[in-house]
Order: sequence, then structure tokens, then C-alpha cells
Amino acid sequence: MSQNKKICNQCGKCCEGAFFLIDDAYTEGGLDHLEWARNHGLKTVFRENSEGKRLWGIELDTPCKYLQKSADGKSFCAIYENRPKMCRIYTGEKEFPDCGYK
Ligand code: SF4
Ligand code: SF4
Repeated sequence: MSQNKKICNQCGKCCEGAFFLIDDAYTEGGLDHLEWARNHGLKTVFRENSEGKRLWGIELDTPCKYLQKSADGKSFCAIYENRPKMCRIYTGEKEFPDCGYK
């Protein structure tokens, strides 16, 4: 979840799973990595970056254990002040096209 609460609507999508952007699938090396990931049974997804280039990555459907829901249905982080650096530098640009925080 973003530090900028004015734009973040606290939907929680960025904490409900994990997405690791890996490579351009249309290169020899990219295809090789894609096949490797699939051979391991990993869920591979395609995303488009801001230049319109298709990239692939690995998606995990496991939510973070610190993701909580408040009574009004908003998501919040139980360790917000001490959350990992990965959560602090999140921009939402590639992972969730409909993320309000950009
Ligand atoms: S996906 Fe975007 S809008 Fe939703 S909680 Fe994360 S930062 Fe906020
Ligand atoms: S530590 Fe907090 S901000 Fe980071 S993924 Fe978990 S719930 Fe989200």
C-alpha cells in the first residue's frame, strides 16, 4: 500500500498477492526463462509497460499476512510504520494498471 493516502483508495490489491516482473518474452532468453517458470508450475502473467512493451512475470496469489480489513471494508497494513522497503518503494505502475496510486 502506498504512503500517499490521498490517491491510494486502500483497495488492498497490491498486498493480496505478489508480482515479480521478469523479462521481455520475445527474446530467446526471455522465452527460456518463461519456459523454466512454467516447468516449475509457477503462474506466469503478461503485463504491458508504459512504453507498450509486453513483459512477463510470476504472480503469487498469497496475500501478505499483515494485510487487514477495517470495518468499512478498506484495507490497511498492520505494520505500516515498519513495512519492508519493497512496500515503501511500490509505485503501482506495472503491477496493477487500475491502481489509483501513480
Ligand atoms: S493497489 Fe494501489 S490503490 Fe490499491 S491499495 Fe495498493 S496502492 Fe492503494
Ligand atoms: S507489509 Fe503491509 S504494505 Fe507490505 S505487503 Fe504486507 S500489508 Fe502490504
